[in-house]
Amino acid sequence: MSDRYAVVGNPVAHSRSPSIHAQFAAQTGQDLVYERLLAPLDGFVATVEAFRASGGRGLNVTVPFKLEAFAFAQRRTARATMAGAVNTLRFDADGVFGDNTDGIGLVRDITVRLGQGLGDASVLLLGAGGAARGVLQPLLDAGVRALTVANRTVSRAEDLARLAGDARVRACGFDLPADAQARVRAGLPERFDLIVNATSAGLDDAAPAIPAALYPTARLCYDMVYGARPTAFMTAAAAAGCAATADGLGMLVEQAAESFLLWRGVRPVTEPVYRRLRAELAGH
Ligand code: NAP
Repeated sequence: MSDRYAVVGNPVAHSRSPSIHAQFAAQTGQDLVYERLLAPLDGFVATVEAFRASGGRGLNVTVPFKLEAFAFAQRRTARATMAGAVNTLRFDADGVFGDNTDGIGLVRDITVRLGQGLGDASVLLLGAGGAARGVLQPLLDAGVRALTVANRTVSRAEDLARLAGDARVRACGFDLPADAQARVRAGLPERFDLIVNATSAGLDDAAPAIPAALYPTARLCYDMVYGARPTAFMTAAAAAGCAATADGLGMLVEQAAESFLLWRGVRPVTEPVYRRLRAELAGH
């Protein structure tokens, strides 16, 4: 019988993970099936236990269960611990192993698919919610020179910077100085090579309210949200003169590839899967 995996969430019908993992399995010759698992909002643990008892080997975990998955895991990677959230569970003979592949997914999409080096880069990370927390440690591990966390609610950015416990991390609001010299006087980096939008402002079709003058200083403006059209953040960045923009579809595929690697010990090739999803999103 094929090994069973699934994505568990609520809602979960929209998830593209089954299609991504079916393509990975076909490409690598792995014998597995990958399903969708809708868990009641108060029934995450029961749903996961039932899946495991019926022979399930691992799960991807999506909204709103990543914190519960963290608590459910008996062993966790350091990056999951730093994220405070788990998006990948593996059921081993000796228990439940939890990881968080979102951050490494972002790093791989930027460095491998988009070819932008992160070593020595100055990064502006917009947002201080779960998504921002999940990518913080992998960005630091990638060797960034400075990481500035800017959030609408400044105290949450400050909390995140404290949690990171790394001298490269600074916190501020969206009202950071537009002028480079004024930024330096405020103890912030002179320029930002990469701006990452990890807010959910895009749900209101809006870009975070940072000064437009910041965009052209960046080599890349990256939105963790994805869609059929460029997001409001990408549009604002391009209009202000940023050289390159990207949405989070590549991150989605890369975090899935890291989960697949954790489960099967094989790294799938992501580019054809990314291209197919992009075409599907565009309606081709
Ligand atoms: P969250 O924990 O609810 O945090 C939301 C963040 O967005 C907070 O920093 C919040 O600021 C900010 N925010 C919300 N509305 C805003 C607005 N109108 N203007 C400015 N800032 C606003 O959510 P999350 O889990 O971090 O998710 C954030 C986004 O990342 C979601 O859209 C999610 O889909 C995306 N994501 C993508 C991937 C991927 O694979 N591509 C993976 C994970 C997440 P305050 O603190 O001031 O409220």
